[in-house]
Amino acid sequence: MTRILIAEDEDRIASFLRKGFEANGYSTEVVEDGLQAVELARDADFDLMVLDLGLPERSGLEVLSDIRARGEKMPVIILTARDEVDTTVAGLEGGADDYMKKPFSFEELLARTRLRLRQADEIESTITAGPLILDLHRHTVTLGDEVIELPGREFALAEVLFRHQGDVLSRQALLEAVWGEEGDPGSKKLEVYVLYLRRKLGDGVIENLRGQGYRLRPDLVTSPG
Ligand code: CA
Repeated sequence: MTRILIAEDEDRIASFLRKGFEANGYSTEVVEDGLQAVELARDADFDLMVLDLGLPERSGLEVLSDIRARGEKMPVIILTARDEVDTTVAGLEGGADDYMKKPFSFEELLARTRLRLRQADEIESTITAGPLILDLHRHTVTLGDEVIELPGREFALAEVLFRHQGDVLSRQALLEAVWGEEGDPGSKKLEVYVLYLRRKLGDGVIENLRGQGYRLRPDLVTSPG
């Protein structure tokens, strides 16, 4: 279930947000000050935060800078009072993804929430290597306008190589990652699948280092056009 952290010190607004999100199938947690917001964002796993800028203990801006400094990537939508234009700009520069001016309609906040969640999901579902984009949901690689399908083990092999791009991976490590326990070191199936991938993605893209293993070389992919 998608989890939303609501940091808002006004009971009326917090409860309006909680009810609205829960009626739309989200699970929520409400905190009333900036310190709790920082702690909960650190200790629990949320998909998005709705963050009031005017919070006690720590301001929304401080919360934002704290969580971004820790590398927290969840989308954050800030709530600002009508006259807080400067603060809103600071919030966007400080890593907020969107903002809503109070008073706002819940429908609009919901639409923006859905959009931000979808974008976050799309970012998570792809791995980029040079001009190649591997789609972890669709099992495809995009190169320019071309969409290349990678069935079964071709995708599994590509995924390992993309996740460790630039690193040399031993035959044995690749066999185990793609074929699991059945990874028989004597078989030629790895070589066969490397060949399939090279045919689809270009010859230079998978480098063979004799006696060491294979390496994805995104810098050697020739971009079309
Ligand atoms: Ca407030």
